[in-house]
Amino acid sequence: MPIYEYECTKCGKVFEALVPMGAKDAPPCPTCSSRRVKKKISMIATGKGGCTSCASSSCSSKGFS
Ligand SMILES: [Zn+2]
Repeated sequence: MPIYEYECTKCGKVFEALVPMGAKDAPPCPTCSSRRVKKKISMIATGKGGCTSCASSSCSSKGFS
């Protein structure tokens, strides 16, 4: 599952959430429970090669696929 970063437009809280493929609804804010959140681009799930556990660009063990 991809990890997305969300920002709550009500209280400004930024949080990350695992979102199942095909999910249409954004997760509610963990702080104020508002659903008025906007998705940000996560730095974690960019999938730009390399290993997510050792951070080496030459490592072939990809964390996400
Ligand atoms: Zn909030």
